[in-house]
Amino acid sequence: MDEQFDAIVVGAGPAGVTAARDLAEAGLSVVVLERGAFPGAKNVWGGILYREPTEAMLPGFEAAAPLERPIIEQRYLLLTGDDMLGATYRSQTFAARPHNAYSVLRAPFDRWHATTAEAAGAEVYPEIAITDLLWEDGAVAGVTTGEPDGELRSRCVVLADGANSLLAQKAGLHEEWAPIEQALVAKEIIALPAATIEERFGLPAGCGTALEIFGESTQGLLGYGFIYTNKESLSIGTGALLEDLIATGINVNDMLDRFKRHPAIAPLLAGGETAEYSAHLIPEGGYNKMPRLYGDGVVVVGDAAGFVNPLNREGVNLAMLSGQLAARAIAEAAAAADFSAARLARYRELLEESVVLQDLFKIRNVTDFAHARPHLLTAYPALLSAAARAYLTVDGRPKAEKYGKIAQGLIRGLGVRRVAGDLVGAVRALR
Ligand SMILES: Cc1cc2nc3c(=O)[nH]c(=O)nc-3n(C[C@H](O)[C@H](O)[C@H](O)COP(=O)(O)OP(=O)(O)OC[C@H]3O[C@@H](n4cnc5c(N)ncnc54)[C@H](O)[C@@H]3O)c2cc1C
Repeated sequence: MDEQFDAIVVGAGPAGVTAARDLAEAGLSVVVLERGAFPGAKNVWGGILYREPTEAMLPGFEAAAPLERPIIEQRYLLLTGDDMLGATYRSQTFAARPHNAYSVLRAPFDRWHATTAEAAGAEVYPEIAITDLLWEDGAVAGVTTGEPDGELRSRCVVLADGANSLLAQKAGLHEEWAPIEQALVAKEIIALPAATIEERFGLPAGCGTALEIFGESTQGLLGYGFIYTNKESLSIGTGALLEDLIATGINVNDMLDRFKRHPAIAPLLAGGETAEYSAHLIPEGGYNKMPRLYGDGVVVVGDAAGFVNPLNREGVNLAMLSGQLAARAIAEAAAAADFSAARLARYRELLEESVVLQDLFKIRNVTDFAHARPHLLTAYPALLSAAARAYLTVDGRPKAEKYGKIAQGLIRGLGVRRVAGDLVGAVRALR
């Protein structure tokens, strides 16, 4: 094609679509190229969507977007081979509008989201897989599908191609992604009637819960299992750092099957039909392993840049915000007719001023902290579960003896120095 667009966006996920919509609203010509049969066809998440950041970028989305259930409750659970213990937070504030978060299914959401970019004037083309970048005078000047007629030119390219971005590597913004920088997650959608979901999880009609489950759910590896309630299905998944999966030879599909069979989990799924299976990478490198975020004629957004906060389960909102900030920087570059790296450095400045890089900087050492302490997801669940069992078992033994044994078990099993070390390490990791 001879036509030159102001911007080409590769990938119609939340980052790419947000960038495209804002670029089109700024009056730039923009095209989105998506390899899936439609936006969302290839996308995977849990998925919990936070309302406030989404509303800030998509005003009125609650009335228009396909949403599942408002999330009124969060459960954190620890699993051992047989047992489960945990904590629940349920809030009437979360149950009332404005809600804090919704469960969302990715395929319908992304499909709808892409229409917001089209309504603003962006062109969205599915079934186009970009294999490489075009270069001119050392600057990115477009993209190609590798076919003779598959070249498209632009003044700027937005790389929104998700985790493990091959195009960020081709742009020279990142070396090869290391297994320690990615988690691999297997996920299923299990169909169940709405009334069954509400009864099993003790939910008011139409409301939802989010369960995050540590320990045996990942066979003790760093990661977690999750169950999120949709209108008429459950999203269930589990996964761990790719490096640990490779080192242990554990396969995430087997991990998910084992998780589903756990005696505390199986009854929640009983009678459900698997409607969908998928597996996907999540970037875990965070702030310390971020690629360079811009170059001459190119910026990288969302998962392709590693913008995920695993502690608060934030990916989509950070992807959208990075897309928005990239669009702002590109619009300024267009106004100055200068798409050089020096001008696009403005994108990094905007990110630094936003929660994207401020939050990622805050948690930059958390993965290393937890990865260096495998006992957090093995010894702690086992000992806490044994302590709970001893405390709750009424067996005629005097309480003084029992409490002493519980304390002894915890101290011997974990060690005072190790617990103190973990606490100090956790505080340091979040400093
Ligand atoms: C199992 C799982 C659970 C998650 N749960 C949550 C959650 O509950 N809440 C949350 O906020 N986040 C969650 N995330 C993270 C969230 O999904 C991502 O952070 C978010 O999707 C990133 O958006 P993105 O637009 O950057 O990338 P993506 O959504 O991955 O979109 C990238 C797009 O680019 C396309 N593409 C890739 N390569 C090419 C190419 N060469 N040519 C053309 N198109 C291409 C893909 O098909 C895709 O449509 C989860 C992720 C996973 C895997």
